[in-house]
Amino acid sequence: MTNKVEIPEIDENAKAVRAEGITFHYPDGTAALKGLSFEISQGEKVAIIGPNGSGKSTLLTLFNGVRQGGGKLEILGLPVAKKNLIRIKTLVGLVFQNPDDQLFCPTIFEDVAFGPLNMGWSSEEVKRSVHSALQDVGLEGFEQRSSFHLSFGERKLASIATVLSMQPRIIAMDEPTSNLDLAHRRKIIRWIQNSPRTILLTTHDLDMALETCSRVIILNKGLLVSDGPATEIFRNRELLETNDLELPLRIQPALLNI
Ligand code: ADP
Repeated sequence: MTNKVEIPEIDENAKAVRAEGITFHYPDGTAALKGLSFEISQGEKVAIIGPNGSGKSTLLTLFNGVRQGGGKLEILGLPVAKKNLIRIKTLVGLVFQNPDDQLFCPTIFEDVAFGPLNMGWSSEEVKRSVHSALQDVGLEGFEQRSSFHLSFGERKLASIATVLSMQPRIIAMDEPTSNLDLAHRRKIIRWIQNSPRTILLTTHDLDMALETCSRVIILNKGLLVSDGPATEIFRNRELLETNDLELPLRIQPALLNI
């Protein structure tokens, strides 16, 4: 008898993400997400914003099945369910806020090769994929370096490469610019702007979101309170202030008159 492993097919015409009434409760009973519904098209770049504790990080972890909640969640037409989880994890790459949660090998090559090796890719494929991922984030030549000897900004770029090497269709990033110096913040902004992938990111850096995302979703207390074009939401002072947010600096009239 042969053990045939079926790889679930994705629907190329499906939405990147389709969420219908999704909920999530932590084991202590905290209701972190209280029934969110939205769709994200392939290639869209969407910022998920909101005050602390609104459910942003929890939502990101649902996208690749790290956590599973109630309601319906589909990635490229595939339900996020136990039988599809291996496939879903290759479709959605999750970049954590702290790069040290993704870098744990002696060398950057091994860190970036970790995912592809786990998927059983050939050594040629692994090498090609690592090279391409490092090149994509501007870290070519870093293969034999140790993450312990890199700056925080370089570690952040390397953590993105560990996800890119799996060639995911969708990238979910938690606070991509937090704690970065200006030069690395700018590198990450350029990388997001130039990426052809669907990107969902959570952030408190609304100026970065304005530069990188065409759409914004506001969460508050586990509810979706607004979903629309970034240019509209980031000009709506009342909506932002009601949700403990502020106009991005580049939209504040006082600064525009300097
Ligand atoms: P955000 O990313 O917007 O700051 P989170 O997704 O981290 O929000 O948290 C959403 C809610 O879930 C908050 O009320 C938070 O206190 C709660 N929460 C987060 N992690 C846990 C956990 N491990 N156990 C219990 N409650 C949690």
